[in-house]
Amino acid sequence: MLRRQLSLIIENQRLFEQAITDGLTRLFVRRFFLASLEKELSRSRRYGMELSLILLDIDHFKLFNDRYGHQVGDMVLRETAQRILESIRTTDTPGRYGGEELAVFLPQARLADAMVVAERIRSNIANATYPHESGPLQVSVSIGLTSLSGRSLSLEEFIEETDQALYRAKANGRNRIELAGQGTAAVKKS
Ligand code: GH3
Ligand code: MG
Ligand code: MG
Repeated sequence: MLRRQLSLIIENQRLFEQAITDGLTRLFVRRFFLASLEKELSRSRRYGMELSLILLDIDHFKLFNDRYGHQVGDMVLRETAQRILESIRTTDTPGRYGGEELAVFLPQARLADAMVVAERIRSNIANATYPHESGPLQVSVSIGLTSLSGRSLSLEEFIEETDQALYRAKANGRNRIELAGQGTAAVKKS
């Protein structure tokens, strides 16, 4: 009886993990990532704790797919996610935010700490090569970074601010990190 209950618990846990994990990248699926971030954001606001958010997008990935094919693209996307997992701590939560848009939130990490992690992610991805018949393949990512820093932002504002920083990283040449201006939210309101 106990054995049956135990195996049911284990099976339920397996099904749950399957449901919240993206099959290709092994990162959390968007829905679970956002729900976790929302919870962490409330906690951080309530207890005045720091929280940082990193958004990443693979550079020129459409060209990459066009050149090497979707399957090779998938392999590189999976590997890129792996580089992220190797660059963060178990207390940080990684997610597949969109197709080739990945994200990590870092509870209790100040901007300076998150910057170190973001740079580690950026360089680990940019320095990795993947074997291919045409020669070693490489991709880079552009990164946007924000910290809550005592502000009372909604989930949407927090993400929007990070997304704008990511957009600037693209505009400023890619394979780089941009910080959300700490005054961005105020500017947006005017
Ligand atoms: P940018 O540097 O501005 O981000 O250029 P980009 O080409 O990466 O940007 P864009 O958003 O136009 O294209 C994203 C591409 O990512 C298009 C799509 O084919 C590819 N992509 C999204 N999800 C997947 C996936 O699961 N597998 C593969 N192979 N490609 C994907
Ligand atoms: Mg994109
Ligand atoms: Mg892209």
